[in-house]
Amino acid sequence: MSVMLDVEFTCPFCGHPEAVACRIDLKDRIAEASCRTCSETYFTSANALTEPVDIYSEWIDACELANEGVLDR
Ligand SMILES: [Zn+2]
Repeated sequence: MSVMLDVEFTCPFCGHPEAVACRIDLKDRIAEASCRTCSETYFTSANALTEPVDIYSEWIDACELANEGVLDR
């Protein structure tokens, strides 16, 4: 069972508003957020309680960690 969720977010990469769509696959327990503008994609694990905003905020956190890594160089 794969659900395309009707919630859209601003892309953390290209900054395009309402470009990120989330998909949750409860069978494989995979959650995906992808930007239709720049094709950037983020995968994480999902469970029955996973909401689109959870996927998105995890993606933002991952981006911030990546940015800190760059700044620490
Ligand atoms: Zn984008």
